[in-house]
Amino acid sequence: MSTNNDELITAFKAKGYRITKQRLIILNALRNTATHPTAEEIYNMVKPQIPNISLGTVYRTLGALEELGLLQKLVYGGSFSRYDGNVNAHYHAVCLDCGKVLDVDEPVLSNLEERFSSETGFTIVGHKLEFHGYCKDCCKRKN
Ligand code: ZN
Ligand code: MN
Repeated sequence: MSTNNDELITAFKAKGYRITKQRLIILNALRNTATHPTAEEIYNMVKPQIPNISLGTVYRTLGALEELGLLQKLVYGGSFSRYDGNVNAHYHAVCLDCGKVLDVDEPVLSNLEERFSSETGFTIVGHKLEFHGYCKDCCKRKN
């Protein structure tokens, strides 16, 4: 995945945000993991690089990055959200046991959107599809 800082700096500036080292570190941490971490997990990931950062700052930074369209916030109805540095359309699979969120490496169903849209005249701006079940590790642990 690209971690082109110039591109990020341009995006920040376009929206009138100041580019801080903290923001770049947080976004790069998110882009370099496939675990879909919570804000608290991100806080622990960046703490070695930004020792004086607070959890509140991490939350505010994630909010700003979301507003800039640089991350996806994944809400699962629980008490906390997960964050994804991959903003390209893709599906997720959620483990009902450990809560892990995995990327689903399958094509997005755009033909389904087109079919429904042409049949009904409904203008689609997006759709959601999520797989629920049990991850490999949890299945192994149970057997
Ligand atoms: Zn699991
Ligand atoms: Mn993802």
